[in-house]
Amino acid sequence: MDRRDFLKTALKITGLTLIGKNAIAKDSSVYSTGNLANRKNWEKYESIKKEEISPKEPYAVLVDLTKCIGCRRCEWACNEWNKNPNRPLKEFEESKDRKPSVFDRIRRTHAGQFTVVNRFYDGQKPVYVKKQCMHCAEPACEASCFVAAFKKTPHGAVLYSPSLCVGCRYCMIACPFDIPAYEYYDPITPQITKCTMCFDRITEGKVPACVEICSADVMKFGPRSEMLKLAHETINNNPERYIKHVYGEHEAGGTNWLYISGVPFEKLGFPKLDKTPIPEYSKNFLFTVKVLEIVAAAPLVWGAYYMISRNKKKKDESHEK
Ligand code: SF4
Ligand code: SF4
Repeated sequence: MDRRDFLKTALKITGLTLIGKNAIAKDSSVYSTGNLANRKNWEKYESIKKEEISPKEPYAVLVDLTKCIGCRRCEWACNEWNKNPNRPLKEFEESKDRKPSVFDRIRRTHAGQFTVVNRFYDGQKPVYVKKQCMHCAEPACEASCFVAAFKKTPHGAVLYSPSLCVGCRYCMIACPFDIPAYEYYDPITPQITKCTMCFDRITEGKVPACVEICSADVMKFGPRSEMLKLAHETINNNPERYIKHVYGEHEAGGTNWLYISGVPFEKLGFPKLDKTPIPEYSKNFLFTVKVLEIVAAAPLVWGAYYMISRNKKKKDESHEK
């Protein structure tokens, strides 16, 4: 048994004990996606890596929150492309008029849905905010993962490997945007799920599925420097419409998902972050992880020591008789 298999087995046992029987019951509120999208995109990255095909600079998506009408077509397209559980497009589009509405509460991404659109208010005016992985330039998820199950690609996308993951969920704690979701459907096979920036599409010259479907022209896709230039030009040309802030330009060391808005970002659920990449803060945390590994292993070592000593004592006693 190698180190990864040992860790997987130990964490599964711990996870099963902690989660408890009720939490792992298979009901309709949890999803089994098979994590096809994350698996497929990691494999694609591995094959491209061998061919050494990389863009000159990473890509980015620029989101203009002043244009979003909350139709949720991007959610539908994401589910469709990534083979996540889905419902008819009409159901998404009609969410605003339905009562109760999906917009009545603030949602986060989960195992069966890599992007969600939430509704906030600027006075009486609704502001719709699409949320997904920000594809950080220096990802906290990647830095926190001690089996290297995350990878920042030269294309800008941050990918995840279900095969390498041991299910410890440190990435969920480390991410400042609350993105990695755990697939609780089956705790025996640890699965984190998240947006892949449609790596399989962008490496074939397409735009991400959510960008393609948006009829309100909310999102633009291209090299990050061009998206930043466009963001600043848009703000400078319309100072009455936008606040002077491109979210993601500097936050947490910069992200490959950028936002412009007419409302301060802290009013729209965006965390206030400085320029420091999160891994800088998590160095101490990672040290703690190593310590915890040792602490977690200690009972096993002492248990083994106790059993060996007891057997030895018994043998010694039987020899003495
Ligand atoms: S980003 Fe586009 S597709 Fe998504 S909810 Fe807004 S308008 Fe609709
Ligand atoms: S938003 Fe979270 S999950 Fe996405 S790259 Fe950044 S740290 Fe990782």
